[in-house]
Amino acid sequence: MSEQIYFKIHQPFTCVYHIEDPMGVFVTLIVGSKRAALIDTGMGIGNLRQTVQAITDKPLMVINTHGHADHIGGNYQFDEVYMNPDEYRLADRFYNQTDIREIIYQQAKQRNLVPDDFNFNSYMCCRLENKRAFDCDALLDLGDIVIKPVLLPSHTPGMTGFYIEPLKLLLGGDSICSMVCLYFPEASAIQKHIEVLEKTAELPFEHILTSHSKEVLNRDNFEAFIECAKAYDEQSAYRYRDPFYRHYGGKMFIYESRKNKTAILVK
Ligand SMILES: [Zn+2]
Repeated sequence: MSEQIYFKIHQPFTCVYHIEDPMGVFVTLIVGSKRAALIDTGMGIGNLRQTVQAITDKPLMVINTHGHADHIGGNYQFDEVYMNPDEYRLADRFYNQTDIREIIYQQAKQRNLVPDDFNFNSYMCCRLENKRAFDCDALLDLGDIVIKPVLLPSHTPGMTGFYIEPLKLLLGGDSICSMVCLYFPEASAIQKHIEVLEKTAELPFEHILTSHSKEVLNRDNFEAFIECAKAYDEQSAYRYRDPFYRHYGGKMFIYESRKNKTAILVK
């Protein structure tokens, strides 16, 4: 299977490539006039580095939104990857325990998603030596595009989103998305999540891209996320199991907003 087939590339804005990993996660490449930034590295089964190099030859900075397996899986393919140091503990767990990588690999195999040139040993043996501390207070200057990091500490403690000012585009990662999962031990209480959303609402964004959908969302969706969190009711929620960490799960609350947008919160 070639990389062109493995990854599906969406281009919602001229300089923004939302790259779909068929294992169920998206990474985002922003190409400025001088530099490019890759946000997250997906599951790590396909050759993401090669896919990015086919899109741009600009100097590349790779940054993780957070330390979950489906966002840092391809880190081993890059020389340096930046992340908020508050996520090191989570990322280390992924790299020190190979069981989750084995599960991801087996699922890819079952779905016939392992490319011919996949290097199983590199994938399984990789460690976090290439991680670098990301300065969440500094602006990312890509030339004609400046990106502002936005702390979103609810899904995970160091979850970092990004605001791309000229496009009025917010990259919400896993804290600002249609199905927010707060059932992991590292996740915040719902009240803290509401505070994160309300603070983020002050940014003048008009569009949102998230890590598990190709859709460009808007402020009506964002309002639904806040309404959903405020309305969360365990009594009318359903049992939910995490597809990768089977010992984790929570109560899934599905909410239809006043403007007919659906939002889901699992706690
Ligand atoms: Zn996550």
